[in-house]
Parts: sequence; structure tokens; C-alpha cells
Amino acid sequence: MKNTKLFGTNGVRGVINETMTVDLVLNLGKAIGTVLGPGKMVVGRDARKGGEMFSRALISGLLSTGCSIIDIGPVPTPTLQYVVPRMKCIAGIVVTASHNPAEFNGIKVMAKNGVEVSRDKEGEIEAILDSGKFTVSDWENILSVTHDKTAISQHIEGIKSHVDREIIAQKQLTVVVDSGNSVGSLVTPRLMRDFGYKVVSLNSQMDGSFPGRSPEPSPENVVELCRTVKSISADIGIAHDGDADRATFVDETGNVVSGEQSLAIIAARVLSRSKGSTLVTPVSSGKLTEDVVNKVGGNIDWTAVGSVVVSHRLGEIGGELGGEENGGVFYPPHQSVRDGAMTAALLIEIMAAEDKKLSELVAELPVYYNTKRKMSIPVEKMTSMMDELLKLSKGMKRITIDGIKLLKDGGWILIRPSGTEPLYRCYSEGPTQQESDKWCDEGITLIEDALTQS
Ligand code: MG
Repeated sequence: MKNTKLFGTNGVRGVINETMTVDLVLNLGKAIGTVLGPGKMVVGRDARKGGEMFSRALISGLLSTGCSIIDIGPVPTPTLQYVVPRMKCIAGIVVTASHNPAEFNGIKVMAKNGVEVSRDKEGEIEAILDSGKFTVSDWENILSVTHDKTAISQHIEGIKSHVDREIIAQKQLTVVVDSGNSVGSLVTPRLMRDFGYKVVSLNSQMDGSFPGRSPEPSPENVVELCRTVKSISADIGIAHDGDADRATFVDETGNVVSGEQSLAIIAARVLSRSKGSTLVTPVSSGKLTEDVVNKVGGNIDWTAVGSVVVSHRLGEIGGELGGEENGGVFYPPHQSVRDGAMTAALLIEIMAAEDKKLSELVAELPVYYNTKRKMSIPVEKMTSMMDELLKLSKGMKRITIDGIKLLKDGGWILIRPSGTEPLYRCYSEGPTQQESDKWCDEGITLIEDALTQS
């Protein structure tokens, strides 16, 4: 039986009413209910167009299999994840396309602990969707939908219980929150006000056409936030992606702090609390992360790229922290998934505890230089290329969890096939730009050699 590959690295995504249709979502609801149900499930959505349309289709599908539903309406993904176990649900589903452009929507499925289901479970859902062998409930066992408006408060209280409120209250910070016209506006501004801080909100009106900025909080998309922080002399700017599981920070001078820098600042403090603590992070993280972890005597557990892999690994080994270079921070005492508001609370707690400006915390970090290149590869050679690359790099110091990461003195080269296009990407990092460029060239040469031999 042919199995449709519907789930990508982070759930199902598609263009609204083109590849992501009501019919598909209705059947996905039936398939999810068949595989994970019957039982109580919680459903939420972000502020995207089609959110209501898709969540109703999804809920109808789930109900037809005999599940009961708690509909919590618009929420950040981490809010839904937080309440799945607390509302004693067997699963949670959020209608979101995270940071994708406005025309996209999607579905993320969580298990009963609030963490995204495993790849195996996704495969089972796809197989049921293909076969059409859905569970159909008897008419007398069809259950109902209840509405619950407590999820946001529960989530905010949860975050507050994991930081030192007294230390935070000693400071009087001015915080600018750019929610990007999505669900981040429901949690982070309220959390910061609860801390006693002055909050200025940007793009806080939820609007699925995203009039303020693109849902991806990349440096080029947060220019308005940078300008605002500087012009009103705020202490920090916080920008979320479309479902607020990530946060990008801006320091008081209006400079964007990279995701790896904010992770490094948080990792250094969290891992120094107890000896031999572990950070779980994908192989795409760099020297900066490694340096700060080594400095405090912590360990790094490398994983393949993808937030779901990090969450699952944290659960397996009981790591103290998880993090990605894109600004995703996983704080297991709270929950083992990315949480943009929790990340912001951790960073602000550090600023308050050490009485430092964000730019000062950034200035303490070592600086490395990056290079990124890519090379087109014939589609039919995408897989065999990796075998050749593995052969060619045998004997070199390397990590082969996801692509090949060649370890250099003071840097590294990472070669990975693209998951969506026929090309290989080469990233490098070094103590100087020249060194990094040189290593990236080395990586590209290796790709060229592998191509001739494959
Ligand atoms: Mg996201």
C-alpha cells in the first residue's frame, strides 16, 4: 500500500484551500481519532486564516470516531502543549503553520504528555488516512465539544512558577512585545505585565493576513521592533513566530540578538545550576553553544535537526535544557517543548538577577563567523551522494547524526542534503571569516568529489 507522506518536520502544512483543504483536515481528524482515540482531546489554533474553518473540520472528524473535545480556541502552540496533560487529555491538536507565509495553514499533533507524536505515530495516521479505514462511532456514543478559556491563564501561571518573581520584581524594565499579529499577543504581554514591567505592544491585533510583518521573526522582519525599542529607550524587544513557540530578542541598543546567542546566555546559567547537566541540541548548533556549555562543565547531546527530535531526546535522557540556533528553547522543568514566552521569562530573569543590560550579556559571548553555501545535485543522486560523502570523510573527525559535521580546530563544516529541494547545503563556522570561508570551500570540494564518484 502506498503511504502518503503528509507530515513534514513539524506537522502537516499546506496552502489554504489548495493543498490544505477542509476535506483533508476532516479526514485527518478521522484518522487521528482512529489512531489515538477514543478519548478526550484538546484542540486549539493560531490566528491564521482558515483557523476556525479547519478546527471545526478537525473537530467533526475527531467526534465521528467517538472522541470528546475541549476547544480552547486561539492559543500559542506551547499553551496547548502545556494543557494537554493538565486537562487530562489523551492528545492535543493545534491548527497552525508556525512561521510559514500567510497563505499556509497546518496541523500539529501532540501525545498525552503535550509533546509532538513520534514519526511512527504520524506514519500510522497517514496509513489510516490512505486506507480510509476510520473508526466510526455508534450514534449513541457520539460525544460533545466543551469550550475552555482557562488555558492561557494556566500557561502563564506555569511559566511564573519557574522563575524567581522577587528577583524579577527588583527591576523596572520596559519591554516591547512584537506578537506578529498572532497568538503570542495572548500570553507574553500579560506575562510581562504580571512581572510588573511596562509593556509596549506591536502588531498585537490578531489578523491572519499578517499586516504588520511576516510570521517568521528573522532580523529583516523585526526592523520595526528594533526601531521602537531604541526610540522609547526600552530594555528589551521580544518577537514571536506565528505560533509563539519561538522568540527573537532585540537588545536595548536596537540590535537583534541571534537565536544562538540567546540560547547561549540561557544555557550557561541553566546548566551551571548542577554539575554534569546536559543540553540537547541539533548538530546545526555551533561553537558558541559548545563553548558556553564546556565552560560551565556541562555536556552536549547532539541530535538530528528538528524540534520534535530534541523534545523526544530530552524525554529519553532527562536533559536539563534543549535549544536550537533558530531561537527555540526547551525548558523541561516547565515543559520539554519550545516555548517562546518561557524563553523570554528565563532571559529576563537573568537580566534582573545579574543586573545587566541585554547588550552586556551578549558582549560576554565569544564571536564566531559563519559561511553558508549550497550546490544543486541531480535528484537521482541525492541519496547516493551521502554514501560517497561518508566514504570520503572516513578518518576525519566527524559527527554523522544528520548529514556530516566535520570538526575543525576552532570550528566545523556541516554538509546536509536539503529536505525539500535537490541540493546539498554546506555551512561552516570559524574564529575568523577567512577561516570559515576556507572551510566552506573545503566542504564544497568534498561535495563535488562525491558527485563525480556517485
Ligand atoms: Mg513555531
